[in-house]
Amino acid sequence: MDHALADRLAAVDARIADAARAAGRDPGGITRIVVTKFHPATLVHDLYDLGVRDVGENRQQELTAKAAELADLADLRWHFIGQAQTNKARAIRAAASVVHSVDREKLADAFAAAAAPDAAALDVLVQINLTDDPGRGGVAPAAVTALAEHVVTHPSLRLRGVMAVAPLDEDPAAAFERLRACADDVRSVAPTATWISAGMTGDFPEAVAMGATHLRIGSAITGPRPVHP
Ligand SMILES: *Cc1c(COP(=O)(O)O)cnc(C)c1O
Repeated sequence: MDHALADRLAAVDARIADAARAAGRDPGGITRIVVTKFHPATLVHDLYDLGVRDVGENRQQELTAKAAELADLADLRWHFIGQAQTNKARAIRAAASVVHSVDREKLADAFAAAAAPDAAALDVLVQINLTDDPGRGGVAPAAVTALAEHVVTHPSLRLRGVMAVAPLDEDPAAAFERLRACADDVRSVAPTATWISAGMTGDFPEAVAMGATHLRIGSAITGPRPVHP
């Protein structure tokens, strides 16, 4: 076992607890997802041995391969956090417990169509684009309500809330305020959609202060990512 990994995980968890207390929040209400993209399945197994049960991947092929390799870890939850093409929806749905990146109606339809006949509903989040660049992933804030209304028409999807990545060129706290407004929009469509997935290595304390319920933290825990395979 890699002691540095255990130390980094503990240090991040201590910072999450500190940020929660500073915001008057219960750290137990926050799910820390470890983003393991580009790292081998052995690292995910080491994290599992340290008690991690939520891991995140952003590419379908990598998700599928690692989930198959670690299929014996039955209580490990895989979160899909990357851009998805509709033709990958079936493979993503087969491996993931949660999809954070539903950003258009066609993609919601593809995940719904990929449901096995008596499968449990798939937990999904609507991804919001907090930048001015329409080429980035996510739906524009003005279109969030309409997308949420579409997602809830599918019984095989369970709308849980919103997800976003803070823009690189802006104070994350300001960007996260816009995300919180989008979260309110989604809750007005689906009152139980209370999850806010935000916060990465560089900005998770700000995300906790804003009210994030799910943090997606990679390199602060895993160490630097290997070069893109
Ligand atoms: C890679 C990734 C993360 C984690 O990034 P770090 O800066 O390494 O913590 C979080 N969210 C998404 C969508 C990612 O692609």
